[in-house]
Amino acid sequence: MWQLKHCIRDISTFERLTGIKFEEKDRELIKKTTAKFPLSITPYYLSLIDTDDYKNDPFFKQSFPSPMELIVDKHDMRDPLAEDRDSPVPGITHRYPDRVLFHISNICSMYCRHCTRKRKVGDIDSIPSKDEILKGIEYIRNTASVRDVLLSGGDPLMLSDEYLDWILTELRRIPHVEVIRIGTRMPVVLPYRITDELVEILKKHHPLWINTHFNHPRAITESSKEALRKLADGGIPLGNQSVLLAGVNDCPRIMKKLVHKLVQNRVRPYYLYQCDLSEGLSHFRTPVGKGIEIMESLIGHTSGFAVPTYVIDAPGGGGKIPVMPTYLISWSSNKVILRNYEGVITTYKEPDRYEPVFCDRKCSDCKLQLKLDEAEEIKAVGVEKLLCDYDDTISLIPENTDRMERRTDRKDDE
Ligand SMILES: *Cc1c(COP(=O)(O)O)cnc(C)c1O
Repeated sequence: MWQLKHCIRDISTFERLTGIKFEEKDRELIKKTTAKFPLSITPYYLSLIDTDDYKNDPFFKQSFPSPMELIVDKHDMRDPLAEDRDSPVPGITHRYPDRVLFHISNICSMYCRHCTRKRKVGDIDSIPSKDEILKGIEYIRNTASVRDVLLSGGDPLMLSDEYLDWILTELRRIPHVEVIRIGTRMPVVLPYRITDELVEILKKHHPLWINTHFNHPRAITESSKEALRKLADGGIPLGNQSVLLAGVNDCPRIMKKLVHKLVQNRVRPYYLYQCDLSEGLSHFRTPVGKGIEIMESLIGHTSGFAVPTYVIDAPGGGGKIPVMPTYLISWSSNKVILRNYEGVITTYKEPDRYEPVFCDRKCSDCKLQLKLDEAEEIKAVGVEKLLCDYDDTISLIPENTDRMERRTDRKDDE
């Protein structure tokens, strides 16, 4: 509570506490920036900034406004992931078949400068009311396909223990909700939020997973280690989602150090995100090649569980698309040619005999004897549909393309 009350929200306080002095013309530009995207830094996070070299400091860059945020690049979008369009009720983004994103808080202790939901930061109008949250819970209750609920925001841990407990209890009462996840940056920006009392509450609602958001190895301090230890000791599986940020962590050496420190603290690197196309982030973006280069430096070179999946969240709302270096370099009818992380090129001989099992989705008759409940209910989607035996589809054709519009027999086609 002390940290929240003393968040740094203006330039003068920042200057007073850090001893950094901005020139008058810079102050004007910074003020213009905060008028569009507000400033808030926890005293704890501020203490991580190296004031002697703040211009190159990863924490300064992630927390202090840059006039470059005012640049709107020609490819920038307000809501690049179409979260608002894929929203059946306010607060819910339902993009994937079996899981939803549930925005239960619009506020954060610190405003990350690279926030993908910058459009909503500090916007009083978009703080979800209890009524809105009830409607979200109602949507999940009425949508039996949802087995995984991802609580996000803002930072869900900005809510009080009691309120969180209530939301988690309501969600747990829905029989088809198998897992609940919380996305929070508290272990990074305000580790003291992870109290024993909070962990006691979270523990009641297992299986509960937490993903946090470390971008730089130096953020793993004694205080954040303590927070992670409490969560892990509470039996909560921990993951980390990093964003690849120019000038912050666009370096294989930094990323390797980060993933090593994460696994030492029982946090599994989960995703490495390509910085998305939200407005005002152009100065943070790297080429995709930088991410591939980082993945190249991790895969095979270090423990498999220390390697995150590098993803690009598809502009327009297609969801996360994994990208990685190419390891399958050639292929014939009975051999695949692969290369490993050292550059060794190797041959995998495929079986001379393989009897394919024709799948007609009648699992009860199948010799594989899966005995999976409801296995036949799964319907193939996307490329999976092209691969399966029981569906005659031969191509996936996006709708509404010029090519499709030109077709005169469109109806018969379907
Ligand atoms: C990231 C995301 C999820 C969760 O995706 P996973 O790959 O399961 O972690 C769910 N819904 C939305 C809208 C998302 O952006």
